[in-house]
Amino acid sequence: MENEFLKGRKILVVEDDLSSRLYLNKILEKTGAVLLNASDGKEAVETVSSDPEIDIILMDIQLPVIDGYQSAALIRKIRKNMIIVAQTAYSLMGDREKILASGFDDYIVKPIFPNQLVEKLVNILINNKQH
Ligand SMILES: [Mg+2]
Repeated sequence: MENEFLKGRKILVVEDDLSSRLYLNKILEKTGAVLLNASDGKEAVETVSSDPEIDIILMDIQLPVIDGYQSAALIRKIRKNMIIVAQTAYSLMGDREKILASGFDDYIVKPIFPNQLVEKLVNILINNKQH
């Protein structure tokens, strides 16, 4: 369903697993968001470097080439105020502190449910006065 907060927002989905990536795209495109994709951390950093219009990044933690933690840190150097949300496997729940200490604005635990994802992104946008 189209969403007034997400419509027209540019969201970068960073996920190495193809079916997960397609799933996230399917959820988010219904909101009216504009979607970009990267399948590893290096590609994510390069995409942010070349596109100043990205509003939100949904970042997998376990990624090839550069992992999610390092990617978030590199992206922060390029775009200080970027909204970066980690997506993490349930088994990594103990990494909550590490995720929040690593510069992510928030995180979402897999499996990701459509309403939960949309709600989380909307809440972050509402609470983030710079956006
Ligand atoms: Mg992964």
